[in-house]
Amino acid sequence: MLTLLTTNQKGYYDQFLTFAQEHVEPYANQWDNSEKIPQDIIDKSAKAGFLGGTLPVEYKGQGWDFVTYGLLNEAIGRFSISLSGLFNVHTMVAHTLLKWGTEEQKSRWLPPLSTGKKIAALALTEPGAGSDLQMMETSYTEQGDYFLLNGKKQWITFGAAADVLLVFGKMEGKPVACLVEKDTPGLTITPIRGMLGFKASHLAILEFNNCVIPKENMVGKPNFALSYLAPYALEFGRISIAFASLGLLRGCLEICGSHVMERKAFNARLIDHGMISHFIADMGVDYEATAHLCIASCKAKDEHSPEATEKIMIAKYFASRAGARHSANAVQIMGAMGCNEDFSVSRFYRDSKTMEIVEGSNQIHQMILGSSFAKKARRTLVSVKTEG
Ligand SMILES: Cc1cc2nc3c(=O)[nH]c(=O)nc-3n(C[C@H](O)[C@H](O)[C@H](O)COP(=O)(O)OP(=O)(O)OC[C@H]3O[C@@H](n4cnc5c(N)ncnc54)[C@H](O)[C@@H]3O)c2cc1C
Repeated sequence: MLTLLTTNQKGYYDQFLTFAQEHVEPYANQWDNSEKIPQDIIDKSAKAGFLGGTLPVEYKGQGWDFVTYGLLNEAIGRFSISLSGLFNVHTMVAHTLLKWGTEEQKSRWLPPLSTGKKIAALALTEPGAGSDLQMMETSYTEQGDYFLLNGKKQWITFGAAADVLLVFGKMEGKPVACLVEKDTPGLTITPIRGMLGFKASHLAILEFNNCVIPKENMVGKPNFALSYLAPYALEFGRISIAFASLGLLRGCLEICGSHVMERKAFNARLIDHGMISHFIADMGVDYEATAHLCIASCKAKDEHSPEATEKIMIAKYFASRAGARHSANAVQIMGAMGCNEDFSVSRFYRDSKTMEIVEGSNQIHQMILGSSFAKKARRTLVSVKTEG
């Protein structure tokens, strides 16, 4: 992967790897077992500038390009998918504000989000609305100079730790999104335990009962929320998932690669058994392919290419599938050790399955990408006028 990076990006990546090895690797299993990312590592991440990495310097961000943001997720995802979830949801909200927020919203919220003084989370999913967000029932009702918010959101990553939530709902049937502060009267936040993956990511259920939301907290215009804000936000989430899956793949490769060189069975090292070598070969090839897709997708975003959105979807789809496949093989390669919570591959296996569901499930990616590839193929055929 390093050959794909600029000198500047390599410098940042080194910094992220050092941080991850020092502050994440020794504790990641412990965080998962206790189902909690501690405040201490959130503070350290904030101090290192990771929470405002891609935000402009004028809002106290670091002004990174998106490849660099991806590399942060790779380095952290190698050891803790749960911690990468923080960068994921926080960045989704911050960039949605940067793109669609008013000047007042940006100057009020972006500096504390950049420096990590405030943590943000994104609330789309409801008990009756997941992949099909048009089914949202959360409602905003206009009352003089405020909105009354009622409804329920669930599976909200860092929902139990966030200071501010971007909450999607409908107002007179039109999708809208508003910033809601955690101490708003009428908001009940219930932490969710027992997740398969992202166990330490402070998932929560949010219940809104006649919450008074100032009108100036609406982000974007009525009817914008599902057509513009959500897809825009999810693109940042997909970058995070794609690169964190890449980090997870690297983890599988590093752990299994060294294990098969040492471990012996039937008078030979595991690597000398063809079937095991096959597993490792496929892992390595998919790691390389995923790295190329991830970097190319973020380069496209950095260059404002119209193809960036699709490339990011391809990277998320490929990376999360590769992560799920190879972490299952990693458990197989490690044998009983792979089945124990003290060994990272069992966590990779659980986390990787979850990566196939979040930020638009892989079936939703298949629907969108399948239709897009078919349309492009038809256009090519029509233009060369050969068949069909
Ligand atoms: C760890 C974790 C963290 C999350 N964090 C957040 C968060 O921060 N904020 C937030 O808003 N949400 C969050 N979610 C929710 C997540 O976005 C949803 O789980 C996801 O959108 C899928 O919705 P659902 O679970 O309701 O499944 P459903 O929409 O009910 O889908 C169930 C299954 O049917 C498939 N399916 C649906 N429609 C079709 C179709 N047309 N064709 C074929 N198959 C289809 C899906 O792929 C899935 O496999 C999180 C979920 C998890 C697991």
